[in-house]
Amino acid sequence: MKKISIIIPAYNEEKNVDLIYVELQKVFATCPKEYEFEILFVNDGSSDNTLGEIERLAGKHPEVKYIDFSRNFGKEVATTAALNNCQGDACIMVDADLQHPVELIPEFIAKWENGADVVVGVRNKNKSVGVFKKIGSVIFYKIINRIAEVKIVPNATDFRLLDRAVIDEFNRFTETNRMTRALIDWLGFKRDYINFEANERIHGEASYSFWKLFKLALNSFVSLSLLPLKLAGNLGIAITLVSGIAGFYILLGKYFFHTHFASTFSDSENLAILIVFLVGIILTSIGLMALYIANIHGEVINRPIYVVRKKKI
Ligand code: UDP
Ligand code: MG
Repeated sequence: MKKISIIIPAYNEEKNVDLIYVELQKVFATCPKEYEFEILFVNDGSSDNTLGEIERLAGKHPEVKYIDFSRNFGKEVATTAALNNCQGDACIMVDADLQHPVELIPEFIAKWENGADVVVGVRNKNKSVGVFKKIGSVIFYKIINRIAEVKIVPNATDFRLLDRAVIDEFNRFTETNRMTRALIDWLGFKRDYINFEANERIHGEASYSFWKLFKLALNSFVSLSLLPLKLAGNLGIAITLVSGIAGFYILLGKYFFHTHFASTFSDSENLAILIVFLVGIILTSIGLMALYIANIHGEVINRPIYVVRKKKI
């Protein structure tokens, strides 16, 4: 018997817990008998009755397990906790809101049986996503693929299957600031892809606002690439050179050759321009450094990645 863990992070999904359970049972019924399934919910500090719904299911069905966080830690961390605790020979990560078509699970398993260690669900299009999120996502993938060490396939979602070997390697990551998808891509392994059409969300609303996604994107830049840090240095050198040459030119023009252009600026104007310019560079650099220092700080204090209130594994 091979065991497959279905991993479901849930944040304020009280109406979806039961629905996804029913949908999953339908899919399990169509799978060959050699597979055994466990469903592992992570209640990510929901403020509604998500935990109650999960506990009710877990009380009735032995294959339903759960982890209950002490507060909201975010989807990336919720997925991490599930990966740390699932027991399957492979796991499949699914959103609780039924936007990931669970009827594709047999296809994920088939690709896994064919030798893929990671099977990635690639979204064709998402009808319910606003223009801002869409443009933001296009820009994000353009930039991250230009600057990050790992290639990230656009529209590759968290809807994916991981082999036990990949899960075990993933569990060695210790960083707090994490984007599950990017870390899995970093790991490498043999991958395969499945295209899917995202469903509309039936109940509740998407909790990833534009700003939350923007923060996630910014964090990924900082944790996956050192380019912004180098950019500040390069910019500093370039601007220092340019302003140095310009200053030199003005000085020469004014005091030695008496050119007309150079003498249209008064001394204090020259100085003001110079100072404003340099202050700008310094502020930009400090801003970027602060981002990195914040990141280092987050990792160095080495807090636990999440806190569990109770669990049934
Ligand atoms: N989620 C979570 N913690 C959060 C936000 C979301 O566990 O802080 C879960 C949520 O319950 C859902 C999945 O992550 O199962 C995707 O969230 P959502 O539908 O809000 O995002 P989107 O569809 O925009 O990717
Ligand atoms: Mg969703």
